[in-house]
Amino acid sequence: MPPVEEVHILWISEGMSCDGDTVSLTAATQPRLEDVLLGLVPGLPKVHLHNKVLAYSLGGEDYLAPFRKAAAGNLGAPFVLVIEGSIPNENINGDGYWTSFGNHPDGSPMTLNEWIDLLAPKAWGVVAAGTCATYGGIHAMAGNPTGAMGLADYLGWEFRSAGGLPIVNVPGCPIQPDNFMETLVWLLQQAAGKAPVIPLDDKLRPTWLFGKTVHEGCDRAGYYEQGDFAVDYNAPRCQVKIGCWGPVVNCNVPKRGWMHGIGGCPNVGGVCIGCTMPGFPDKFMPFMDQPPGAAFSSKLVSTYGRVIRALRGITNHTMDEEPRWHHNGPALTTGYDPHYSPGKRLLTNGGKEHMR
Ligand code: SF4
Ligand code: SF4
Repeated sequence: MPPVEEVHILWISEGMSCDGDTVSLTAATQPRLEDVLLGLVPGLPKVHLHNKVLAYSLGGEDYLAPFRKAAAGNLGAPFVLVIEGSIPNENINGDGYWTSFGNHPDGSPMTLNEWIDLLAPKAWGVVAAGTCATYGGIHAMAGNPTGAMGLADYLGWEFRSAGGLPIVNVPGCPIQPDNFMETLVWLLQQAAGKAPVIPLDDKLRPTWLFGKTVHEGCDRAGYYEQGDFAVDYNAPRCQVKIGCWGPVVNCNVPKRGWMHGIGGCPNVGGVCIGCTMPGFPDKFMPFMDQPPGAAFSSKLVSTYGRVIRALRGITNHTMDEEPRWHHNGPALTTGYDPHYSPGKRLLTNGGKEHMR
């Protein structure tokens, strides 16, 4: 496909969701959504966003028009389809439906699933925003009645868009705003022919955003290494004993912060509950209990960490004092040897004399 100069973003949040990803997106600063829409980011195509929460119109057919045009194949420009919320199983909806977006001409509800079936194969790129859309999230937990699932579970993990791309997953409950914007900007640069193909891991996440664990970027990791663990939620120390899953969760939020570099769950006292992970929430519950393995690993670290912390305490105290010769007195006590001062003779090199 040749480089594009204009792109529509068709954002459907009628998945099983709380619209929290859209709300989170408004906090982005790297770059701001407004900057992308106003054409202030160099090199991007012109972008038209269609998102019901952020739309100027009050809804109805005016709002639905670009979606209908895209479904009919006459939008006039390539589009990126963004799905927010998990996908219900409409094969088990009984006499009703689980979730819809607009109506058919006969007035019957048009389900999210019908829209996905129509739009996804025509989209230049398809993005799942948030953990519900990527892996099912809270709506897909054990015991749910809707059979909810992630977009790749619905379309198939081998799905390819009209632009030849797999689904791009940006998990998070909700999305970290700048993680989403960075991914979107990469895709837009790629569509414009100015960036290589976006690198994704086997769970379809951007590799540079989800390749490290929470623990590896946590402000409290130094406390973990020294075996200094919090026993309640009021301490600034490592929280692994009070339920933090950070050591085994792929997420950059502590490193990046939440809004404009500030926040990031464990940095500010919230245990990591693994909200970016395909196994969330069931495999991380009950949230506030010590994760399996944490008792063993923290016990091992405690043994080593207590000794190291004590030794570092001594060194830290020593380094916290100025050298003893920093004083205003009659004698020079630095240990300076006048033998090496200019003009003094110095015997080196097997007894040969040199002048310094
Ligand atoms: S609070 Fe969590 S992420 Fe941070 S150091 Fe402790 S275990 Fe690791
Ligand atoms: S640090 Fe943990 S709880 Fe916080 S956003 Fe990342 S995965 Fe979710």
